[in-house]
Amino acid sequence: MQFRTNPKNGDQLSALGFGCMRFPGMPARIDFEATEKLILTAVEQGVNYLDTAYIYTGSEAALGDIFTRNPGLREKVKLATKLPILKCSSMADFDTYLNRSLERLKVDSVDYYLIHNLTSFKSWEHLVEIGVEEWIAKQQEAGRIINIGFSFHGPEGDFEPLLDAYAWDFCQIQYNYLNEHYQAGTAGLKAAAARGIPVIVMEPLLGGKLAAPLPEKAQAVLTEEETSTDPVRLALRWLWDKPEVTVVLSGMNALSQLEENIATANDANPGCLTETEIRAVDAARAAVAESYKIPCTGCGYCMPCPRKVDIPGCFNAYNASFAHGWFQGVQQYVTASGALSGKLHLASDCTQCGACAKRCPQHIDIPKELGTVKRRLQIPGLATILKVGLRFIVR
Ligand code: SF4
Ligand code: SF4
Repeated sequence: MQFRTNPKNGDQLSALGFGCMRFPGMPARIDFEATEKLILTAVEQGVNYLDTAYIYTGSEAALGDIFTRNPGLREKVKLATKLPILKCSSMADFDTYLNRSLERLKVDSVDYYLIHNLTSFKSWEHLVEIGVEEWIAKQQEAGRIINIGFSFHGPEGDFEPLLDAYAWDFCQIQYNYLNEHYQAGTAGLKAAAARGIPVIVMEPLLGGKLAAPLPEKAQAVLTEEETSTDPVRLALRWLWDKPEVTVVLSGMNALSQLEENIATANDANPGCLTETEIRAVDAARAAVAESYKIPCTGCGYCMPCPRKVDIPGCFNAYNASFAHGWFQGVQQYVTASGALSGKLHLASDCTQCGACAKRCPQHIDIPKELGTVKRRLQIPGLATILKVGLRFIVR
């Protein structure tokens, strides 16, 4: 495993971190046995950064059980979890959620604790008003939080002011070759590094978008030079090429993914990207951007919808209709509607209540975009056809 030094405290962190929001079976029911095997294998191979969150359903509790069943494991890793600020309106709430995280994880302290999902400077100011700074200081003094950081999904202009608003030990940003100028972006990465703040990268594959086979033009560039055309390898190497990146999180849910990512991490040191790979990324970026109309990463923070609309499923189908053709988009839309499992919920079922949009880290105007999905994919009569078809399925 390749390790990178945390410039703030000298921790040797594995370049590949384990993102714990996509354990096997999540979100319905975690397959504990498969998850335990994944975590143990990862740690055996040198992964020493585990990133979970209060809001990742079942994830903290599963990790807690894995620590209990495997004495000594806790000491081998740096554990990160996050404060769900959307649920907090007072200092007492901060206490409640940290206490619950510690109980679920069955630990006394968190190595890397994040203010989860700051979407603007204003959202930080609100937390300051309700006493977050005093609260952090108290928790650090008590040794319950070792390093304090924040994860960011706001506009580029708010990132630097946030970096300077508190004595952060680390930060976490969404970053990948398609998001160089989106949210914190490359400018934010460099700004954090210039302040000696380590950067943890999330969404390295943009919710799986960059794991799809590379567009033909990018493949051609790599094939010409007999270089691997594996899209995940290319996307991860693009990140590890940058010395300012400390840890790249990957939400791995299969041993094969874990092994491939570890193999990639082993030789992806700063400056590793070849001229050929740089040209391939340029070609891939142009082609992927073309079909990536709604910037949904599939994180699921907007769910559940009271009308049971599968929001990420609808957006995925819409994007697929540009990437792989309109017909494929309609097929995916029908699947996302639940028609095949006997429960029909279409984009047109949205009542525009707006609850989902407040939770979207990508700031997508979800009700409006569901209208766009409906116009492109919900052909006239589709709802009726599916409802009639459903009667046969339900029988
Ligand atoms: S705005 Fe529409 S999609 Fe969003 S939660 Fe409300 S009903 Fe569901
Ligand atoms: S719409 Fe937003 S919150 Fe919902 S899955 Fe997509 S990116 Fe996540």
